Amino acid sequence: MLIGGELVESASGAWDESINPANELAIGRVPAGTKADVDRAVEAAQGAWPAWAALSPKERGEIMRAFGEKVRERAEEILQVEVADTGNTINPMRGDVGHAVDSLNYYAGIAHELKGETIPATPNHMHLTVREPYGVVARIVPFNHPIMFAVARTAAALAAGNAVIVKPPETSPLSAMILAEIAQAALPAGIFNILTGSGATVGDAIVRHPEIKRIAFIGSVGTGLAIQRAAAEVCVKHVTLELGGKNPMIVFPDCDPDEIARAAVKGMNFTWQGQSCGSTSRLMLHEDIYDAVVERISDIVSRLRVGDPMRDDSEMGPLNSAGQYRKVMSYIESGRDEGARLTTGGNRPEGEAFRKGYWVRPTVFAEVDPKMRIWREEIFGPVLSVCRWNSIEQAIKLANGVEYGLTAAIWTRDLRNALKTASQIQAGHIWINGAGPHYLGVPFGGMKNSGVGREEGIEEMLSYTETKVINIVL
Ligand code: NAD
Repeated sequence: MLIGGELVESASGAWDESINPANELAIGRVPAGTKADVDRAVEAAQGAWPAWAALSPKERGEIMRAFGEKVRERAEEILQVEVADTGNTINPMRGDVGHAVDSLNYYAGIAHELKGETIPATPNHMHLTVREPYGVVARIVPFNHPIMFAVARTAAALAAGNAVIVKPPETSPLSAMILAEIAQAALPAGIFNILTGSGATVGDAIVRHPEIKRIAFIGSVGTGLAIQRAAAEVCVKHVTLELGGKNPMIVFPDCDPDEIARAAVKGMNFTWQGQSCGSTSRLMLHEDIYDAVVERISDIVSRLRVGDPMRDDSEMGPLNSAGQYRKVMSYIESGRDEGARLTTGGNRPEGEAFRKGYWVRPTVFAEVDPKMRIWREEIFGPVLSVCRWNSIEQAIKLANGVEYGLTAAIWTRDLRNALKTASQIQAGHIWINGAGPHYLGVPFGGMKNSGVGREEGIEEMLSYTETKVINIVL
């Protein structure tokens, strides 16, 4: 782990193994952090952040950019470790380090925007606002893009003058160990700390530490709620949550079935085995094109190349962990039990290569009823649920009828229909005639139980500051 600029073991001396999900072999181990390690990291971070915050935005930005270049220099090594540790396919994973470094550069560049205001509230005063960093902040990371989130989603906090404590995911922690070496050399001691270990031990101790006033979390709704509860038991904290999604893709009858089939497959993020918060996992087809699209999608999905995630031509790898495998299989079973029509997938691929590992074929269920669990709950796996609609009122009700509100996609050539629908969909991020990507500088985050707060834009950087008012009597 990285604490106060030193690479250290856990205070307990215990280690956790990390498993390659493609073959179930142990490929590395990381320290099993404890509450004592959290205390040490907070002390180091408290000692370090005032000098970091006292640098000019330009000086902080230069250090952040140099850090990014060091991350980029080890991109290939990080990629190899990340693919083996997560199971995500190598080709699209090549983008993750690039996104991470882009984000460091973006926030390094906009650090000058940590501006205050003068407010003409009363004639005999000058009212000023200034933005100050919280000091020590924490970032808790999920398993699907560990290096990207550990770098990209700490950049805003660093730019704002905070010291950061990062908690990598327990099932895919290895790339963070390379990051620890890079950060040790590239950043002032104590500004960037990495604590590995379980969510229940290290994660909880971070959340409960009274001197960490700002917690940023990406993960499941259940853990997000646990974090809000635990934080509230200790003191008042600023907690932001980027949680799950069960995102609708609403398709009007004026669309081309071939284009929709390709877009729906892309929107499902099968290259991460569907383990993506933004996946459009609820496909809502107008009845006029329903049959044509279902047939085409089932055909494309049944031909996706599932295989060794290290191979360039693999289009889907294994699920991230045994827990993920059990969860996804149980949803597939519930889809069958509740009467949805399985059009492709639903089981393990055949062959020697798939005897070990957490493999599931990409799966499509048609005729899904909105009461079914596979329609309402986030599976976070390669399972697409399809249903039909015939009036826009019904479609909007269906789209909004779940607890989530992260993303949505609307497909139609009619701009008025698209915008009217977008205004009625409860989601933080809506694509019109697209599905999948988010863009740096554009706020991302969810409504309803998909979260609170927005990341990836200037709002994220400002969320790592507190506003202080100074009023001067004239
Ligand atoms: P998770 O909630 O199981 O774990 C996420 C992190 O929280 C891990 O590092 C874990 O160790 C830690 N943790 C667990 N219990 C904790 C506790 N009590 N206190 C503090 N930390 C704790 O999530 P996961 O399975 O790693 O990730 C999948 C989830 O993440 C999905 O629901 C997905 O939709 C969501 N996600 C959301 C976004 C987004 O931007 N909205 C992005 C990626 C993933």
